[in-house]
Amino acid sequence: MPEQTDSESRKLLSRLQATLAEAGAGQERLDRITHLIADSMGTEVCSIYLLLNADTLELCATEGLASESVHVTRMRLGEGLVGRVALRVRVINTAHAPAEPGFRYMPETGEECFSSFLGVPIQRLGECLGVLVVQSRQERGFSDDEVYALEVVAMVLAEMTELGAFVGEGEALSARHQSHVVFHGSCAQEGTTEGRVYLHEPRVVVTRPIADDPRAELIRLRAAADQLRVSVDLMLSNAPKSDGEQIEVLEAYRMFANSRGWMRRMEEDITRGLSAEAAVEKEQSTARARMETVPDAYLRERLHDLDDLSNRLLRVLTSQGVDTGVQMPDRPVLVARNIGPAELLDYGRSLKGVVLEEGSVGSHAAIVARALAIPLVINAKRITTEALNGDLILVDGDQGIVHLRPEDRVAAAFRDKLAMQAAAQKRYASIRDKPAKTLCGTNISLHMNAGLMADLPSLPSSGAEGVGLFRTELQFLTRSQVPRRGELAALYARVMDAAGGKRVVFRTLDIGSDKVLPYMKPTDEPNPALGWRAIRVGLDKPGVMRMQLQALLRAANGRSLAIMFPFIAQLDEFTQARDRLLREVEREAALGHRLPRNLEIGAMLETPSLAFAPRHFFELADFISIGGNDLKQFFFAADRENERVRRRYDTLNVSFLTFLEQIVHRCDDTDTPLGFCGEDAGRPLEAMCFAAMGLRSLSMRPASIGPVKSLLRRVNLREMRGLINEARANGAQSVRPAVMDWFRQKG
Ligand code: PEP
Ligand code: MG
Repeated sequence: MPEQTDSESRKLLSRLQATLAEAGAGQERLDRITHLIADSMGTEVCSIYLLLNADTLELCATEGLASESVHVTRMRLGEGLVGRVALRVRVINTAHAPAEPGFRYMPETGEECFSSFLGVPIQRLGECLGVLVVQSRQERGFSDDEVYALEVVAMVLAEMTELGAFVGEGEALSARHQSHVVFHGSCAQEGTTEGRVYLHEPRVVVTRPIADDPRAELIRLRAAADQLRVSVDLMLSNAPKSDGEQIEVLEAYRMFANSRGWMRRMEEDITRGLSAEAAVEKEQSTARARMETVPDAYLRERLHDLDDLSNRLLRVLTSQGVDTGVQMPDRPVLVARNIGPAELLDYGRSLKGVVLEEGSVGSHAAIVARALAIPLVINAKRITTEALNGDLILVDGDQGIVHLRPEDRVAAAFRDKLAMQAAAQKRYASIRDKPAKTLCGTNISLHMNAGLMADLPSLPSSGAEGVGLFRTELQFLTRSQVPRRGELAALYARVMDAAGGKRVVFRTLDIGSDKVLPYMKPTDEPNPALGWRAIRVGLDKPGVMRMQLQALLRAANGRSLAIMFPFIAQLDEFTQARDRLLREVEREAALGHRLPRNLEIGAMLETPSLAFAPRHFFELADFISIGGNDLKQFFFAADRENERVRRRYDTLNVSFLTFLEQIVHRCDDTDTPLGFCGEDAGRPLEAMCFAAMGLRSLSMRPASIGPVKSLLRRVNLREMRGLINEARANGAQSVRPAVMDWFRQKG
């Protein structure tokens, strides 16, 4: 056990505790605290600056500076030494402040006579709430113990302010958690919604940051850590041996749980006056702060593990479970740091939207959100620290923007947009049973993309002719082991039943890249999108693909069946996959099972190379479906996951449309049916231009069918084609401006 010294921090904390226990309004308490700190540390000045909004700090209390400057002096993040402490969330300790880079006087405070400066961030879990400063006339550096003492006090302040102890008087804090905050994330599933925040894992609230009896706290900490270790060992022994990734995480948990350094640091914090839970949280804050700066992805992951482990330890100490009994609000929008696919499926369609702090466009959660057709915004930095259960939230999945606690003006504009969308949906319903026939008499067949049994009910109401892409990954991603053949066959049969005789195109397992199965050994690849994925895995490790093909044949049980293979890049991959399927057909026949009445074997064209495949490929394929999401990323060499580059290249870029036209020609040559099933097919303008380039079959999310059909029925493709040709001849980069102009002219 670390030696208990009556350190600066302990003395200061016990005085602080006494002060906090006294009655008083927020401002009075802040004033008493600054007085107490200055007195304890022997400095002339102690000031508390709090964040008024995302980029402005305000002086909220001071001992030693001019009292008139309280609630008057403000500075931007990064401005002066105080602003720099807040911006970098780092301590500044200097004996000669004027010589420090960035130094700036605030004349109204009268601080020019103070030479020494110690500023520490008031932070909670890496989020800066303000700055605590002491200053003195005498040129002196502050000792490590003094710095530590001030940091601990700042942490206690962060807890107290979070608890609302000062809210009401401290203008800065009352502004927090009431103000409108906008998050610019990335769009992972389109759609817009208004709802109320429902936190997936509400944070643990530390109500008692300071403790009187360090011995008792040490006993609590050790008991909780023991309990944690036992639970981690149990999780490890229960984890499936094949699940390398989960085991790796649990091993990291175990390593940290047994780490003497981690325990020692927390024990030291306790002997300096913190309660056990505050000590855990202090360590967690340090890990979070490091997480933001560590460039190495592996190390960042491990710091995440430590963060998760700290959360678990906090929950043991405070008995605050994940389930806090908070009622799910009406129109819930789930807010989380990240979420697994199974957990998201558990919430299911009750959710109106999902906002994640992390995540990626191709993550499992994104795949589920796409299948559930709920708007999803990812990379909404700090939303879990800002959002409170029940807050009003507007999610714009089309733009990747989230408004938390929106101002009335913003909420009203957003509601107008929702109302317009609802009115449009009504209009679309009226053309549901009408064909997508253009003014020039061309019929375009519209299909829906699906990935869950739960998607199928939307087939009749969407007006889709069938399912153009059934992604089969989800059943694999949401289980802890490979699903069994019987289980899959039953599910595929239910999908076909629900489609009621309409065509369903099943795509075989498309994993690898970022879609790693929980029970698959992760391979460390420098460029996963260009790596061992989809059909490449299917052909190299044939067991799972065989089992899936058998399940599909059994599910069809004599009905028509359409299967397509993803990510075919050259002829032999298609011939091999096709041969394997035909071998399974023979095997089924030998076993006396019913064979599909009609079997279509198709390929997804997702790499430019396939467009240049030998003619034989086009003859052999019963149909081809362009996977535009991948094709576009490889055509422009722009990662579909990378927000910085993915919007840079317009789908209506003349080169891309010309490329699509070439694919259309190649398929026309061999009479091979061609479709397009990437997200762009669901965007009306894009869909119209694809049709103008000769595509006759499009597959999209169900909600897009109405808008796409509505536009197609109002255009003449020949006219559009003329417009595109003209833009092409004029050397335009994209045909979008010309098309938009044309629509504007037509009103
Ligand atoms: C595509 O790439 O366009 C596609 C439909 O497949 P996924 O989005 O599942 O990669
Ligand atoms: Mg794809």
